[in-house]
Amino acid sequence: MLENKKSPNTPLSSLGEFALIEHLTKKFSLTNKSSLLGIGDDAAIINDKDKLTLITTDLLIEGVHFDLGYVPLKHLGYKSVVVNLSDLYAMNIYPSQITTSIAVSNRFSLEALEEIYEGIQLACKNYNVDLVGGDTTSSKTGLIISITAAGFGDKNRIVNRKGAKENDLLVVSGDLGGAYVGLQVLEREKAVFKVNPNTQPDLSKYSYCIEKQLKPEARKDVIKLLDDLEVIPTSMIDISDGLSSEILHLSKSSNVGFHLFEEKIPIDPHVSLICEEFKFNSTVAALNGGEDYELLFTISQNDFDKIKDHPYLTIIGHACDKKIGCQMITGLGQQIELTAQGWQSFS
Ligand code: ADP
Ligand code: MG
Repeated sequence: MLENKKSPNTPLSSLGEFALIEHLTKKFSLTNKSSLLGIGDDAAIINDKDKLTLITTDLLIEGVHFDLGYVPLKHLGYKSVVVNLSDLYAMNIYPSQITTSIAVSNRFSLEALEEIYEGIQLACKNYNVDLVGGDTTSSKTGLIISITAAGFGDKNRIVNRKGAKENDLLVVSGDLGGAYVGLQVLEREKAVFKVNPNTQPDLSKYSYCIEKQLKPEARKDVIKLLDDLEVIPTSMIDISDGLSSEILHLSKSSNVGFHLFEEKIPIDPHVSLICEEFKFNSTVAALNGGEDYELLFTISQNDFDKIKDHPYLTIIGHACDKKIGCQMITGLGQQIELTAQGWQSFS
């Protein structure tokens, strides 16, 4: 469906590994003072004195995590970085370095890899992280991308999954379900295109959700906002697998239960419209859809006044006794126990 926008198809075999690495990375420069040594040696050196170092990694496999039938390569590069950075924001710190490793088959041209690296570079710029290394190898089965991100944080500001206490408020950023319904639209259009390659789909009314799927953003702004409001969450996680599964993670790590109020779950009107068209329940899309990369966190009730009026933070429930478990209370007052289905249950 989407062609590479640059026309020449330079075979990778015409470059050799070192020239390829040099070509792909020459436009990247180091901007963070904690990046002491970057690309070009046997290892990178990073350091930020007195702070703790946090590291996270993600592996993305063609056909499992992305489908090049509808994912533009530049978006793929961008998203690969962003979803990785989201894990560090979920620890309440700012990432500062990444490494990018790729395995490619000779089906890819130099121009295709350039597009992926354009997306990676844009993410580095938008999120203020330095590319300090990576690895390049060949693959026989498709494209594989692995990104590792590192960041530094003060010990007393780092937030993990295990600090929620009974009666803490459960808060989510942004709105949920968009990335999942965006994926459904893309899958449908791909199926239509297979039958009739001459169709020109008009996707404009779906653009909000398609963008959430193809070009998600990590909530750096929420970390900044919490800092400005002087709120340190008691626990936090990013929403990669759906609200339900992430609530269960906080519950397990923190040893508390949760009450979630269905009517409080933030769902954008664009998402509701697509749900109507596809005959989905929008609550189910939010609970099980995944890939929204919003932040889910708990705060002490003492911090309620600081966040209560904020347009992109919504209080959706509270922590309770572990014995109660994780319950969603519906608009009609019924209680439904949350289960972790994840996105796979939809396939
Ligand atoms: P080595 O043989 O020691 O693993 P490489 O030749 O693989 O070294 O890498 C040389 C330099 O280029 C290293 O600094 C490495 O981190 C960097 N590098 C290799 N591949 C990539 C890539 N795909 N993206 C970014 N940096 C890379
Ligand atoms: Mg190497």
